[in-house]
Amino acid sequence: MSAHVLVVDDLLPNIRLLQAKLEKEYYNVSTAESGSEALDIISMDPPDIVLLDVMMPEMDGFEVCRRLKASPKTSDIPVVMVTALSDVEDRVQGLNAGADDFLTKPINDHALFARIRSLVRLKGMVDELKLRDQTGEQLGAADEESREKMNNIAGSKVLVINDDPAEMDQILSHLEDTELEVDTAEDPAEAVAFTNATEYDLIMLSSQLRSDDPLHLSSHFRSQERTKYTPLLLLIEEDNTDLLVKALDMGINDYIVTPLDRNEVIARVTIQIRRKRYQDALKATQQQQLSLAITDGMTGLYNRRYFDTHVVKMLQKAEREERPMALIVVDVDHFKNVNDTYGHQSGDQILIQLAKRMMNNVRPTDLCARYGGEEFVIVLYDTDEEAAMAVAERVREAIEEESFTIPADPGKLDKTISLGISGRRDGDQPSDLVERADKALYYAKEHGRNQATLYTDKLKDLPTE
Ligand SMILES: [Mg+2]
Repeated sequence: MSAHVLVVDDLLPNIRLLQAKLEKEYYNVSTAESGSEALDIISMDPPDIVLLDVMMPEMDGFEVCRRLKASPKTSDIPVVMVTALSDVEDRVQGLNAGADDFLTKPINDHALFARIRSLVRLKGMVDELKLRDQTGEQLGAADEESREKMNNIAGSKVLVINDDPAEMDQILSHLEDTELEVDTAEDPAEAVAFTNATEYDLIMLSSQLRSDDPLHLSSHFRSQERTKYTPLLLLIEEDNTDLLVKALDMGINDYIVTPLDRNEVIARVTIQIRRKRYQDALKATQQQQLSLAITDGMTGLYNRRYFDTHVVKMLQKAEREERPMALIVVDVDHFKNVNDTYGHQSGDQILIQLAKRMMNNVRPTDLCARYGGEEFVIVLYDTDEEAAMAVAERVREAIEEESFTIPADPGKLDKTISLGISGRRDGDQPSDLVERADKALYYAKEHGRNQATLYTDKLKDLPTE
């Protein structure tokens, strides 16, 4: 499906020119002749991209951009500011207003389509991230805070490949105040060695290396696992269109025309690094979700991994809201005997039925997870130690009072559990809470099993179970 582009300019001839160019490439174009008209159109039929003139009477492009970026409904729509060539400072100002990219008039076709393509890709990524956000809220995907973090490029790693000492000096001085970590390479071999050792957020590549064809080097970067998705920014002379077209086809993300303008360099570098951050966040979320099958296949309870992820957030929330919270560790008494005497199938049956009884005796908001082989945890939010002890006792009774059904003879088996309980203390890490409950469990086991023990500081020298 072709992308929907909204062109905003106060001069009709400018609109017509851009519209013709875009429609020729099968983009779906709508137009607006003022900032307020643009805002109306966007609120009714959000486009995939906005091309926004800066200089307009009444409401200028910066103001339109700020309004779009301030509203959660429209903040993810990429905005390209269109500035006059002479207004170099507008570019950085545009980025500060939240613009995603900019173009200078007169608009070069290669620049137009390179940037639109790249923004359509970015929009796809952001949409995907938001979707993950909704489905995997608890897994730490991109909320507003992390989005802001992604937009901050300080500390990002940049590799500059250039064998012209004067140009190199100029680049370094342009990047001086950006808080980027910059490495420099003077030839392709050195550049490859750097990229083999370090993961960069951006590679800036000169198109005029004496020792190698820059396209050769870019194709190398695109073929390597480590640099496959690293943004490549090409420095190129004004009229070298042939090389530019080839480079864009090959997967260069963007380019800067030499001689270099400071604002342009900072803006292009910022845009590319921000995009890399989005991409990384998306990949991380994907991986998290793939590897995080959240339930234990046998018992249907949450698994250890989910517990580990979730308990951190529960603890933070309890601490922030100053609420009590408790953790119970549950261990089946003499479980090894079951497997040895009645076989693994019987052992599995006991764990399955035990999980069910446990679930029936806690609230739906409590978290029950299988922690290890025959060990379980229950996390009780907004529950103090006394109430947690009552829950532990109830669960213990539910296990003791009814035999388990097993496939092996004699078909029934009585089992008991031991439990250790610990209440949240300020400053607790999950491991602190688990460790104290484990000591209480150790005490329960040492004192005859089939009982629940609440941790107190008397138990602090006990080993963990
Ligand atoms: Mg104008």
